[in-house]
Amino acid sequence: MKNIIEKLENTIDKKDILVNEPMKKHTSFRIGGCADYFVNVRSAEQLKHLLQLAKAEEIPFQMIGNGTNLLVREGGIRGIVAKLGLQDDTIERQEQEVLVTCGCGMSLGKLALIALENGLTGLEAMAGIPGTVGGAVRMNAGAYGSEMKDVVVCSKAMNQRGEIQEFDLTAHEFAYRKSAFETNEWILLETTIRLKPGEKCEIEEKMQEYKKCRLEKQPLEFPNAGSIFKRNDGMPVAKLIDECGLKGYAIGDAEVSSKHSGFIINRGNATAKDVIALIEHMKKEVKKKFDVDMKLEIIVIGEE
Ligand SMILES: Cc1cc2nc3c(=O)[nH]c(=O)nc-3n(C[C@H](O)[C@H](O)[C@H](O)COP(=O)(O)OP(=O)(O)OC[C@H]3O[C@@H](n4cnc5c(N)ncnc54)[C@H](O)[C@@H]3O)c2cc1C
Repeated sequence: MKNIIEKLENTIDKKDILVNEPMKKHTSFRIGGCADYFVNVRSAEQLKHLLQLAKAEEIPFQMIGNGTNLLVREGGIRGIVAKLGLQDDTIERQEQEVLVTCGCGMSLGKLALIALENGLTGLEAMAGIPGTVGGAVRMNAGAYGSEMKDVVVCSKAMNQRGEIQEFDLTAHEFAYRKSAFETNEWILLETTIRLKPGEKCEIEEKMQEYKKCRLEKQPLEFPNAGSIFKRNDGMPVAKLIDECGLKGYAIGDAEVSSKHSGFIINRGNATAKDVIALIEHMKKEVKKKFDVDMKLEIIVIGEE
């Protein structure tokens, strides 16, 4: 362990290396055991070094964003967990549209704010998604009829060997909550999105409307990871879960939200085991009543 810490410190500041770091501090569910090494990455060079180190030492490497779509098991994560700090942005104005490029560690909320400040429309519906730009591209995150695929122009990503490549829109292979990046071979560094000039007050008004909607419908007062399941044939599954009488049903401290049946909330001390048992129960009941196989949207990682 000492050996690896010394090697990490060759390129990474001591304060950015956390040993035996509880992942519950880095996930919106507030659940998860310890990562052996949790590293805040501040440059592409540092990321390259980390990937090479992980390969040379034969230890696993896991990238995370804001941890808002993750369930980490109690056994924690072996090897290196890296969080991207790249947050620079540039704005290039063309005739009818504006290209905004930003580091993939930036939160989608901050990017939406930059759009608002510059009077740019196109991100209003996604402003309330709590992930990073990297996580949002990887998941093709979306809300209220908009998805990342509607705004992305291109991205730069690094592979496990430290090589950087540019991906055009087609190469992202976007589909519903899916992209080419789900194999974990490539780490997104930078993304360019296309926005249009708009009226600042209208953009702000729309953002407020969507925010109000989220506050009313989602259990934001409890730790959660957003929708647990994907839509089924384009339809939200919350109604099916609801009709199985599962609203408020709990295992340990994991509970089907009474506000939104598509969400599981952590009432305080929920474990990943509780959440997984609850997910299995929800799947079983929905299959029995509606013959629908619900598919997970959240990503489960770590050891039992
Ligand atoms: C209250 C709440 C509301 C939500 N609402 C929505 C919504 O409306 N729509 C929606 O789509 N989602 C929603 N989500 C889910 C979540 O916010 C999105 O999926 C988001 O895009 C995840 O981003 P993240 O940075 O948190 O990624 P993480 O959860 O940290 O990681 C998700 C995956 O992305 C990978 N990843 C992260 N960064 C990179 C990178 N730079 N390069 C390559 N891979 C990377 C990780 O390895 C992991 O596999 C919600 C979640 C919460 C808690």
